[in-house]
Amino acid sequence: MKLITYQYRGIEEAGVLARSGDFVYPLRMLGVSCRKMSELIDGGSSLLEKVRMAVKEADRRLPLAEIQLEAPIPEPRQDIICLGINYREHAEESVRFKGDALSIGKTEYATYFSKRVNRATGSGALIDTHGGFAEELDYEAELAVVIGKDACRVAEEDAFDYVFGYTIINDITSRAVQTRHNQWFFGKSLDSFAPMGPCLVTEDEFTRPPILRVTSRVNGELRQNSTTDFMIHGIAEVISELSQGITLKKGTIIAMGTPAGVGMGFQPPRFLRSGDTVVCEIEGIGILENSVK
Ligand code: MG
Repeated sequence: MKLITYQYRGIEEAGVLARSGDFVYPLRMLGVSCRKMSELIDGGSSLLEKVRMAVKEADRRLPLAEIQLEAPIPEPRQDIICLGINYREHAEESVRFKGDALSIGKTEYATYFSKRVNRATGSGALIDTHGGFAEELDYEAELAVVIGKDACRVAEEDAFDYVFGYTIINDITSRAVQTRHNQWFFGKSLDSFAPMGPCLVTEDEFTRPPILRVTSRVNGELRQNSTTDFMIHGIAEVISELSQGITLKKGTIIAMGTPAGVGMGFQPPRFLRSGDTVVCEIEGIGILENSVK
């Protein structure tokens, strides 16, 4: 199922996108007690199954024209867990830009960091430049994994049982802030720097692991073009490894890193400017489109 969060008459709620893409079946009209995405995730597989059955019989729905799309998980409960340098060609372009040995060759263990997201940015909403504070603005199209049940010391072969679904995150970064603070957190955590969506697709719609094309375009020009099977550290490995020491609570979001082709990878770099439009697309999930304010 493709799940979305949206505003309808000023109220935030979640629903199931119709296969045709023209309608949404609001959770509140499906005879289940939840209204929001976080409640649906909390309800686990039995609630998800109830929703799945109810949609088959549903006759009440809303046209997409009457809703305003939001990020599928508008206010994540915890910082997003991110992977740095998880595609080899992106590792090479990062070193070219920064001139340091951030990671080529150092790929035996994954690089983890977190990204604060007070409120995720829905498809169609604007990315803020913070009045010039966030210079060297860059885009990073990424597959994001949403955990569906608390994961503690999970074996790799069981990891996908803990995945609720997948969405797209554009891990917007100010390279200037990132560089001057010598750390990822600040430059990636500014308000509006987490475009997410357009929907959250349940895990059952994908192979294990999902092999999906990931692309990004800036003003229509193809910049990133890869597939998730080029990731250095895969989804099962990451869930298993993190959960050896951190209980990954349901609702946890893990952004799996970005392929080559980001702005800092060009010579000279091609950062985002006011008015630019970035489109991130992942097969089977959809198109996440945002413009720079
Ligand atoms: Mg990233």
